[in-house]
Amino acid sequence: MLKLPVYLDYNATTPCDPRVVEAMLPFFTEHFGNAASRSHAPGLYAHAAVDLAREQVAGLIGAEPQEVHFTSGATEANNLALKGVAEAYASKGRHIITCVTEHKAVLDACQHLAHTGHDITYLPVNQEGAIDLAALEAAIRPDTILISLMYANNETGVVHPVDAISKIARKHGVLFMCDASQAVGKIPVNVNTDGIDILTCSAHKLYGPKGMGAIYLRRKSPRVRVIAQIDGGGHERGVRSGTLNVPGIVGFGKACELAAHQLNTENIVQLRDQLESGLLDIPGTNVNGLPFAAAGTPTPGQPASPGKRLPHVTNISFAGVTGEAIMMATGKSIAVSSGSACTSASREPSYVLKAMGVPDELSHGSLRFSLGRFTTEEEIQFAVSAIRTAVAQLRSLQPFSSI
Ligand SMILES: *Cc1c(COP(=O)(O)O)cnc(C)c1O
Repeated sequence: MLKLPVYLDYNATTPCDPRVVEAMLPFFTEHFGNAASRSHAPGLYAHAAVDLAREQVAGLIGAEPQEVHFTSGATEANNLALKGVAEAYASKGRHIITCVTEHKAVLDACQHLAHTGHDITYLPVNQEGAIDLAALEAAIRPDTILISLMYANNETGVVHPVDAISKIARKHGVLFMCDASQAVGKIPVNVNTDGIDILTCSAHKLYGPKGMGAIYLRRKSPRVRVIAQIDGGGHERGVRSGTLNVPGIVGFGKACELAAHQLNTENIVQLRDQLESGLLDIPGTNVNGLPFAAAGTPTPGQPASPGKRLPHVTNISFAGVTGEAIMMATGKSIAVSSGSACTSASREPSYVLKAMGVPDELSHGSLRFSLGRFTTEEEIQFAVSAIRTAVAQLRSLQPFSSI
């Protein structure tokens, strides 16, 4: 029997891998030591476990362990990166370049900086969610201190050309920060070959625990400086104070170790493409984040558009219906993310889709499907047929619809 709802919202969060939970458990009870207590065995044991986890996280992104600092998640890491760089490099300048489709953790931190005298350039995106590299380069000024562009977009799965971005940043001597929360553990990420100076990521997006993340700060060429945003004891090399969440860190490390062995994306691409082509068979549908033709003709086992989209994500618009209505009509048997963020007062269309030029009606009618490690073919078949039925039913209630 299929377990309902079918969970296709892995970009929102992933379940902890059972092997992660197993690794964490002893650190709540038997090995409860404070990793900062270096004068006795329980503290040293915890410290050693944190060291191992730091190696595991660093290993997944090609960093040195000393360059990895633990935080409470990617939101905190993004705040630390943006505000910490803004403070540390204030004498060089106050200009930061980012993009309209970044995660709110970046955009809201930038908004905060704008209120405190910083100048933020928000690069636009085209219909496919891509930035214009020439526009990026043209936006760089003598007082630019940071370029903050995500690795892969959480709503559409669109992957930025990180390599090209970092080359532009290097050429102009500007730091490149990359929110890689949706990429780490999903596709190969390497801070050295990708040329990333500051990377942020989150454990719960890769089968680790919630409330756990990390910031990578390059230590040489260039050595990145940030001013801590949480003071109190100088933990994590003074970058982020506070007693370490040892079980969380151990789980994060284990999750990274597992991800390093499971980066083969072939299987998940196949399932995603099966889902996508099944849904695109429904009239009045299209993929957000890829040209229609490319998305409509996936080659089995191959990413529909190599390097441009995460292997496990598809964001699809259904004309003439809303995402919420589709979810309701399936009897809530599929857990996906809808294209509009429901706040209590208003139903705002997704700002990411809006920035890509998706009309509001289509944005309201879009769903983000994100597959994961535990997704099965049976689940995909169920999802396709449930959504097909739901959309047909909803449209039959609109006799004058043109679709
Ligand atoms: C989930 C996510 C975050 C926030 O991470 P938390 O650990 O939940 O704070 C930031 N950026 C992106 C791209 C994300 O997907």
